[in-house]
Amino acid sequence: MSITTNYKNTLEFATELDTADVLKDYRKKFHFPQHNNTNVVYFTGNSLGLQPTTTKSYIEQELNDWAQFGVEGHFLAKNPWLPYHEFLTENMAKLVGALPSETIMMNQLTVNVHLLMVSFYRPTANRYKILCEAKAFPSDQYAIKSQINFHGFDVNDALIEIHPREGEYTINEEDIFAAINQHNDSLALIMIGGVNYFSGQVFDMAAITKAGQAVGAVVGFDLAHAAGNLKLDLHNWGVDFAAWCSYKYLNSGPGSVAGAFVHQKHHANTKMPMFAGWWGHDKEKRFLMESTFEPIQTVERWQLSNAPIFSMAACRASLDIFNEVGMEKLLAKSKLLTEYLEFVINDINLRKNNCLQIITPIKNRGCQISIVANGYGKALYNELIKNGVIPDWREPNVIRCAPVPLYNSFTDIFRFGEILNNLL
Ligand SMILES: *Cc1c(COP(=O)(O)O)cnc(C)c1O
Repeated sequence: MSITTNYKNTLEFATELDTADVLKDYRKKFHFPQHNNTNVVYFTGNSLGLQPTTTKSYIEQELNDWAQFGVEGHFLAKNPWLPYHEFLTENMAKLVGALPSETIMMNQLTVNVHLLMVSFYRPTANRYKILCEAKAFPSDQYAIKSQINFHGFDVNDALIEIHPREGEYTINEEDIFAAINQHNDSLALIMIGGVNYFSGQVFDMAAITKAGQAVGAVVGFDLAHAAGNLKLDLHNWGVDFAAWCSYKYLNSGPGSVAGAFVHQKHHANTKMPMFAGWWGHDKEKRFLMESTFEPIQTVERWQLSNAPIFSMAACRASLDIFNEVGMEKLLAKSKLLTEYLEFVINDINLRKNNCLQIITPIKNRGCQISIVANGYGKALYNELIKNGVIPDWREPNVIRCAPVPLYNSFTDIFRFGEILNNLL
């Protein structure tokens, strides 16, 4: 499949692109919700990824072993539960550009954000501020503000939010760098979403990490909308820590187990403050039930509890697919799909008085395009749903569409355009 700029908004052209798509067979490996006996146009893989057809058998394996072995499944299950999380580590690490010792699947995303902030937000009287993007995902805002309050600081003083400039939807990265330099030695932590969930803007994580660390701040990212969507290189970028969920682009099912990253440079520092649990204790001695916590010298140290095996089984099914396909092919298709969606929207605009405004930056984006439909409210989104398209709606006026390279097709985009055109 070669990059083409001569797109056409026709079924024939979309079908040609599908025929040439080297990943086209993966579409058959996912369950699609149905509308009038056909697959819906599912553009919400950035919110809840579709279910791989293999997921059921991965979970069934664990249900069967539980039935057969009871507690002994921790050792006797085909995939022993005691080290189960380790089966996910290598594939997950590859996807985020980390070493296996830096990558762990555990808990939920917001829980991991808190646990990591306990270790990495250690404010002092002079260095206590946190810099984040304005309109960060609400859970991140709540987590950050409650951490600031927990340490006895005032959010109005300690929280630096970078806003888009007047009349703009996305943040000018120069404003991030200017704020880093301005707040300089009062900045304790930078905590930004790798991709803003609302606008779809991708931030230059390597440059932000460098700029933040240059003024002595710690730098962490929420990768909920980045993992499985972008090329990530957390280790080489020198990012201090990161967390992400697995139910969006990573297709691991609602509320499934989340991911965390702590850079190797922090692993030897066993004095780092943290909230501890028995799953973070030295594995050789875990069942000696000793009263003193002896931390594992990897990111596994941050684990609290024994692993949720069914969530992990679902996550494993999906990561096996990602590992088979590889991020390179996904990124190549993602670029084409997103370009084609952009083309189709612009083509509709020619006929509809430019009522659609794409607010996602063209250069810095993954596979999500956020659209403002001027003059149309949530009714337009409701009509899309009624017609078999599932995008999502974010207050006050944005429709987000994420064509996902693993299972969306170019024909999906054509159908979306056709339906949208009829509704406007
Ligand atoms: C989806 C998302 C969350 C959700 O948090 P959970 O703890 O998984 O419920 C948090 N932050 C960001 C940036 C998200 O995109």
